Amino acid sequence: MSAPVLYIVIPCYNEEKVLPITSKLFLDELHTLIHKDKVDDSSKILFVNDGSKDNTWNIIKELSKIDNHFSGICLSRNRGHQNAVLAGLLDSKDRCDITISIDCDGQDDISAMENMIDQYMSGNEVVYGVRSKRDTDTFFKRFTAESFYKLLNAMGAEVVYNHADYRLMSSRVLNEFAKFGEVNLFLRGMVPLVGFKSATVYYERHERIAGESHYPLSKMLALAFDGITSLSVKPLSLITGFGFLVSCLSFIGVIYAIVSYIIGDAVSGWASMTCIVCMLGGIQLVCLGVIGQYIGKIYMEVKRRPRYIISERTF
Ligand code: UDP
Ligand code: MG
Repeated sequence: MSAPVLYIVIPCYNEEKVLPITSKLFLDELHTLIHKDKVDDSSKILFVNDGSKDNTWNIIKELSKIDNHFSGICLSRNRGHQNAVLAGLLDSKDRCDITISIDCDGQDDISAMENMIDQYMSGNEVVYGVRSKRDTDTFFKRFTAESFYKLLNAMGAEVVYNHADYRLMSSRVLNEFAKFGEVNLFLRGMVPLVGFKSATVYYERHERIAGESHYPLSKMLALAFDGITSLSVKPLSLITGFGFLVSCLSFIGVIYAIVSYIIGDAVSGWASMTCIVCMLGGIQLVCLGVIGQYIGKIYMEVKRRPRYIISERTF
């Protein structure tokens, strides 16, 4: 089998501090891979500028002039990490044999790519990059991130533990993946749904080379919630079960109240009444909120809006 054509897909949002450093690392790695005959010389590094407000797109354009292994597409506005990765993957699927998606901040170990390609050559169509340890993350980041994976799995959204969006996908898988038309994206939960033979490659996660994370706690929570509601309807059945339980308890309460009334033991229970009313009100609002989230998603899905719009490209 001849060496596959590889496209390295890299989403970038306001990364002017990082790109000049990491672009060299990516290029070095690609040169090494080409040199070792692991990938074809027509392989490329595809930057996806996700509507950056800084100089990122200019840097990408400059890079593509310096070396023709660099290329870039520019989204018409900021669409978020998941949409940016999707744009890059779908745009490259017909130009290459394999894609590897990776963040541009140098946190994911670039040298794991070779291992991923070896796994592909031995018959795996999807290769997940998994963090072997998170020593460089703060305790808080590690704790929240690991809880995130546990919560997702408990809620029925199957994800590979400690796998973010560093993964190899073959063009065959991408062609099937392209048929998943949803606009609420949670790639790491969707890829396992496509199936095909897959493998895992472990790597150590480093610190960000420069700049700051775009995933503060609020965004992580939003992503977790998005992941759950995009991939699973378990919260709805939990709510139903919980509602059933509360109804049973209420029924017992009602009987108790009637019996107390009949035997003339009815006290002026203002406090207990208030507590019950407040509690039930709270539970109902939470449940309505969760159901509302699903309806909101359906609303976004039925519009069938494009998931990204490419406004410029370097090729
Ligand atoms: N990113 C993006 N669009 C966004 C936010 C982030 O394309 O709206 C990119 C960002 O440039 C980086 C990757 O997504 O390459 C991951 O972001 P970040 O490093 O901030 O997240 P963390 O690694 O801290 O979870
Ligand atoms: Mg990062």
